[in-house]
This record gives sequence, structure tokens and C-alpha cells, in this order.
Amino acid sequence: MRIDAIYTNGRFRTMDPARPAATSIGVHGGRIVGVDEELANVYAHRTVDLNGAPALPGFHDAHYHLSMTGRRLQSLDLGSFSSMGPLLEAVRERAKKVPPDGWLLGAGYDQNILGSHPVADALDRVAGGRPVLLQHVSGHMHVANTAAFERAGYHRREGVPDVDGGYVVRDDDGRAQGLLQEKAMGLIQEAVPGPGLDDVQRNLAAASEQAVAYGLTSLTEPGLGGGQTIGNTAADFHSYQAAVENGALKPRMTLMPSIGAFHYLEGFPDQGWFGLDLGIRTGFGDDRIRVGPVKIFSDGSLIGKSAAMHQCYHGEPDNKGFLQLDAVALMRIIVDAHKAGWTIATHAIGDEAIDHVMDSVEQAQREAPRPGVRHRIEHFAVANAEQVKRAAGLGIVPVPQGRFISAFGDGMIEALGAERVEHCYRMKSLLKAGIELPGSTDSPVADGNPLHSIHDMVNRLTHSGQELAPDERLSARQAVRAYTYGSAYAAGEEHNKGTLSAGKLADFVVLSDDLLEVDPATIRDVTVGATVIGGQSVYDDGALRT
Ligand SMILES: [Zn+2]
Repeated sequence: MRIDAIYTNGRFRTMDPARPAATSIGVHGGRIVGVDEELANVYAHRTVDLNGAPALPGFHDAHYHLSMTGRRLQSLDLGSFSSMGPLLEAVRERAKKVPPDGWLLGAGYDQNILGSHPVADALDRVAGGRPVLLQHVSGHMHVANTAAFERAGYHRREGVPDVDGGYVVRDDDGRAQGLLQEKAMGLIQEAVPGPGLDDVQRNLAAASEQAVAYGLTSLTEPGLGGGQTIGNTAADFHSYQAAVENGALKPRMTLMPSIGAFHYLEGFPDQGWFGLDLGIRTGFGDDRIRVGPVKIFSDGSLIGKSAAMHQCYHGEPDNKGFLQLDAVALMRIIVDAHKAGWTIATHAIGDEAIDHVMDSVEQAQREAPRPGVRHRIEHFAVANAEQVKRAAGLGIVPVPQGRFISAFGDGMIEALGAERVEHCYRMKSLLKAGIELPGSTDSPVADGNPLHSIHDMVNRLTHSGQELAPDERLSARQAVRAYTYGSAYAAGEEHNKGTLSAGKLADFVVLSDDLLEVDPATIRDVTVGATVIGGQSVYDDGALRT
């Protein structure tokens, strides 16, 4: 028998309990055909030597905004500047490459390091007349130049109104100085055009390169479709299909349409039919692009203290956050999408929002039983023991983000206070309740590197070094299972992915060290040597020898 390739001399951890370790893997037609002694009488066109390196099934992030990550990568990175002069020079250089009518977008500056925020006057001098919008590292502030204010209808930065829930920094004469905080960011943001089809292609190409360098072979992207801040255009599925055809899209994608793209289809007067045209729904597609669940938002942010809670935020006796969608409307959407055959993924952070989502799922199953459907709750940030048990009973898959622990853990502790922090971004409790836990980062909200996310799932230390609900710590094995099999399960693809077993897709990652053996405190120092998707190398840092 002749097969495409044998990857040999590796230390594969297959994550398949029936066959946990292997040194060789045979690949044909993009799938695994056997391991070790099963390949004894098999001839391969290619033999690839891993030189003794450890390898795992490819990482799979269950909640990753690939297109938005690309948008962020395309904008000018200001994170490395420690003084204003070089930052302005970088803006000047970038401006030369931006078309005269285009926007110059940057992100990541920190006034604590620079000494001050940039101001419009200084940006005007280097921008060549182009509108400039620079995002603060926190994402909660922007600086705009005069041309940007002009685009938004404020000639010479005059007449800029005050905004509830925001702040406009002004010069002595009352004109906006450039810095816009919180809700005031909307004054300019609304004038920035959304990406066009070509932009989406460029963004997907850039983000794909980063993803495969991170060892990611599959991603689930929430919220596609136009008219939403997290989508791109109304033709998003076309963009992904085109990016597969032209080779720009590397990871396998499960794409979640945004609920904003849903409508009631004509010709179903009695029972109604809620979804996308032609009845396309969850599961449609192939092993490169599949239609995932529909994405719904029920509430806001934990560190922004806007997520809907049963009890007030710590130190804010009047603030329980709020629902983005009232409970009745939320239930109607969930029940109707469920009846039309969709899997539903609802963003719910606060414990009150989580209860409303679970009420809705329960109602949907009462009206139209669909045993085995894997409705999801994205983030599932604050949940007591009873709620964890209820989610398990309803077959709901919670999708918490490991990387949030170091990125936002300090803010979460501050928002919740000591008594509720034990309920925050639970992981071990989910496993104990029998839930199959996926791994994710919400990139670019937090950086998408799965090794850093696994590190956080195991160590649960915030940026300042505080422990965040240490009882929820996972073993390295549990965290790796989440990032491989768990995310495949959340996407309904565990028959295709998540372990290195005969018949499954040949997607794996070669690492510098064995995650199950290194000191847990050093997991984030492990690096990716190569990434293989469908038996083909898509990233190689010198780990593969042909
Ligand atoms: Zn997200």
C-alpha cells in the first residue's frame, strides 16, 4: 500500500485513551490512516522526520474572531513605543502608505509609558491630511486627529457634544483635543467605514498566518454578517469561501452567523421558519468551512460592569448591569432558532443573563425536543454551583476563555468582590459536572496564543499575580484536552478532530516541549515548531525534516 506521507520520529500524544502515544503517523488524503506498527508494510511518498519532538492534535479555539484579529493586525501597532517622537514618526511613515481618502488606524498605545496621550495637533502634522484614529491599549479610549473629526462632521474639531457615559477632552477654547473616552469614542468610530470585501481577504490572510504560527488548526468564529461590530460585510461567507479558494485561509473554520442576519422565511405561515435564506443551518459545509451555531448577545462585559447580575457589582450598590435583549425577546429568538434546526450560542457573562438563557433553552426543548443538540453559552463568566449543574443537565456547552484570567482577572476580582470570585470563569467545576470543556481566547479581545491560554487554565494567575478561583485550576492534560477534543465536541466535530486516531483529519502541532511534562509555571514558554493541517505543513519553524 502506498500513502501520501509518514510523519515519523515524533513523540505524539494522541489524546486518544485507546492509544495514547505514538512515534509515527501515516497520512493519506488528508486523514490519518494508522500509527506505528500499523504502518509496517506501508510505503509513503514522503517521510517527514520530527527529530524526537513532542506533538499533539492541532489546537482548536472555540471562540476566536479571525477576521477581527486580522483587522487588528493590519492596524499600526503602537504597543512598543515608550516616547511620543518615535510614535509620531511611525504614524508619518504609515500615512505615506494609506490612500489619501483612507483612514490610518492604530492601536495599543499607553499614556502611562508615553507620558501623555497623543493630541490631534501633533497627529495633524504627520498625517498628510489623512484621518487618524489611535486606540488606547485598554480599548476604552481613542485619540482622533482633525481630519477624523472633519469626517465625523465636526469642522476644525468644533461643536463636539458631550456624551453620556463618555468624556471629550477639550482645549481651553472648548474644541476637542483628540482624546475621547468610553461612549464618546462613538462620535468618531461611526464615521470609520467598515471593511470591504478586499479588506476582509487581507485580514483573513494576516490572521491565518498568525493562527497557524500559534499551532491553531481549527477555529470557531462567532458573529459573522454585516451590520454588527464583530462581523464584516453582509457577504461574509463568500469572503471565507474565496479565502479558501485562493489559499489565504489556513485554519479550518466553523462560522457562526450573527442573529442580525436572521429573518422569518416566507412560505411557513403556521410554524414559522427563523434563520438564513434557503434554510441553510448549523452543520452545513465541509471540513474547511462549516456553518456553526447562530450567535446571540444577551448581556455585556464583566470588567465593564455591564453584564446582567443577580447581585450588584462590588462597590456599586446600584449597579446590577443589564440585559442587551429583554428576557421575553431572548426566549422567542432562542425557541424559534432551535425549532428551525439551529444550534444556538448565546453570549452570557452575568449570572442573571445565564439564567435567562437556560430558561430559554429549557423552553425550547419543551416545545420541540432535540436530544443531543449542543447549545452553547459563550463566556459563562459568573455561575454558582446550581447553575453549573443546570447547564450540565440541559446539555449546554459553556465556552469560558482561559486567557481572560491573566488578561482581565484583576478587573474581574475588582468587579465581583471576594465572595463571588469563586464563581468566576469556572473550569474544573464544569468537568466535575460532566461537561466537555472547550478552550478559547476570544481573540483579539485577548491574544489568541493557545499555549498562553492553556498556561492560564492550569495556573489561574492574574496579571498582578493574584490567584483567580484557584479551585478551578486544571491539570495540563485537562487543559490540552479542552483545546483539542473539547473544542471539537463544542463544534460537533469530535468524529473528525480532537484526537490523533485513524480516520480523523491529520491536523497536529509540533512543540518545543511536552506540555504534560513541563513545570506548569513554564507552559507559556513552550513554542510551536510546526503546524500540519490535513497532512500538509502550513507552518514550519525548522521542526520538520523531509
Ligand atoms: Zn467574542
